[in-house]
Amino acid sequence: MALYGIYGKHATEVCPWNNIDTARRLKALAESDLASTAREHNIRAILGQYHSALEHTFLWVVEAEDPHGVQDFCVATGIAAINELKIVPLITFQEGVIPGLKKIHNL
Ligand SMILES: [Zn+2]
Repeated sequence: MALYGIYGKHATEVCPWNNIDTARRLKALAESDLASTAREHNIRAILGQYHSALEHTFLWVVEAEDPHGVQDFCVATGIAAINELKIVPLITFQEGVIPGLKKIHNL
């Protein structure tokens, strides 16, 4: 299992605060069993869902088998239809500092 960040952004015209169709779509998604949908795509957990409403951006953090499952999850949920997405492998601060600095600087 690895951590992945799903970084998304959308245009103001499709923002759920400005567009009733997007609003209905995202309300249904928010009220659905998102954890179950995630598991269907080999995502063990959704660890965080953070949004910047007026920047029209978001970051979701998931723990998943591989990025292709994350990609499939984004398509299945419809978030890929509304947002431009980047799926980025993440490490924690501790993982970056201790083994990362040992590997790079032998500290
Ligand atoms: Zn928006």
